[in-house]
Amino acid sequence: MQNIAIFGATGSIGGSTLDVLSHYADCYRVFALTANSRVEELADLCAKHHPKIALVADASQKDALAQALAQRSLTDIEVWAGEADLVKLAALPEVDVAVLAIVGAAGLAPTFSAAAAGKRLLLANKESVVCGGALLMQSVREHQAELLPVDSEHNAIFQCLASASDRDRTKARLILTASGGPFRKRMDLSDVTPEDAVAHPTWNMGRKISVDSATLMNKGLEVIEASWLFGFPPDRIDVVIHPQSLIHSMVQYEDGCILAQLGAPDMRTPIAYSLGWPERLDGFAKRVDFAALGSVTFEAPDIARFPQLSYAYEALRAGGAASIVLNAANEIAVDAFLNRRIKFLDIAKTCRTMMDSLILPAPTCLEEVLEADRLARVKTREVLAR
Ligand code: NAD
Ligand code: MG
Repeated sequence: MQNIAIFGATGSIGGSTLDVLSHYADCYRVFALTANSRVEELADLCAKHHPKIALVADASQKDALAQALAQRSLTDIEVWAGEADLVKLAALPEVDVAVLAIVGAAGLAPTFSAAAAGKRLLLANKESVVCGGALLMQSVREHQAELLPVDSEHNAIFQCLASASDRDRTKARLILTASGGPFRKRMDLSDVTPEDAVAHPTWNMGRKISVDSATLMNKGLEVIEASWLFGFPPDRIDVVIHPQSLIHSMVQYEDGCILAQLGAPDMRTPIAYSLGWPERLDGFAKRVDFAALGSVTFEAPDIARFPQLSYAYEALRAGGAASIVLNAANEIAVDAFLNRRIKFLDIAKTCRTMMDSLILPAPTCLEEVLEADRLARVKTREVLAR
């Protein structure tokens, strides 16, 4: 029996994880659930899954969470609150697997904590790889943590690299697939609304990542993520648009052979793979019917309309804290867009301005990562206020 702690249990990945776990109650125990501030939703999940610990990241909601649990006669569940408790939970000896499904750089501290405690990490929070980079990978190695990428592209690449020798890896290319998002065919993006942007054609996801998919920032973040996770330089990582989201990503080897991982677009598949690895659990996603599918297509990404993809390559090549600055600027700008304070095209402009104006050295520890992130957020808010 393994104890699972889900960071970001009320989100899209959190929900998919709980769904997978509900089929395996004899092997995995839902040990802890966390949410940012929605205590009623968290309490409902607690009523269904009976964890030992419920944690609300917004410490001001601690009493509200205790009350919501009491209303459901769940007084035996421990109430934890605040960022320090998130870090403590990720390192708790009873936790075997940490599912990192918080959105944004807020996921950094618990991810680092789980790595330093040598846990199995089911890592969905791509922003912590983008910002943590070499430091996170070093901590994973040093503490013999097991990092299983849940992001579908990286889960695919993980599977496609499984049989590669070290030599094969140094010559291979990664090919990340992208659906192209909701605006693949829309030429004028000046009056896009938040509702348009979150309506993803193939995946059902949280709001922030849905906007990132619409700008192609998501694919940019995934290029950076892939570079760190698999140790590939940016010039050996390609992106191709593949609107059917059947192929989740590929590896092209030196001999020209390409290994790809395919399946229905359903996050329960990479979650179950990461949970069961090195064995495969039974899956729940719809099986692919090739005859019904008919055809799959590919095209090049349109960098002129979606420049944020190229900003990610630029940040990776620039090094220093460029990826942290890009990620923070994007998070602040996406939030402003979702709250109708800026236009869709201003997201990319904000990222460009910040990359040109804030050049910081490479961080040498988590505290410096968090400081660079904080500074970039302050400066981005100043830029937007102008
Ligand atoms: P979501 O918005 O649906 O859920 C986010 C979760 O994080 C919620 O439980 C929320 O309470 C929590 N949270 C938000 N801000 C927080 C904070 N400041 N402190 C603590 N907790 C906080 O997001 P999602 O779509 O599930 O995505 C989660 C992560 O997984 C993201 O990093 C995303 O890029 C990645 N991811 C998601 C998908 C997907 O299909 N949804 C696919 C690949 C990768
Ligand atoms: Mg992805």
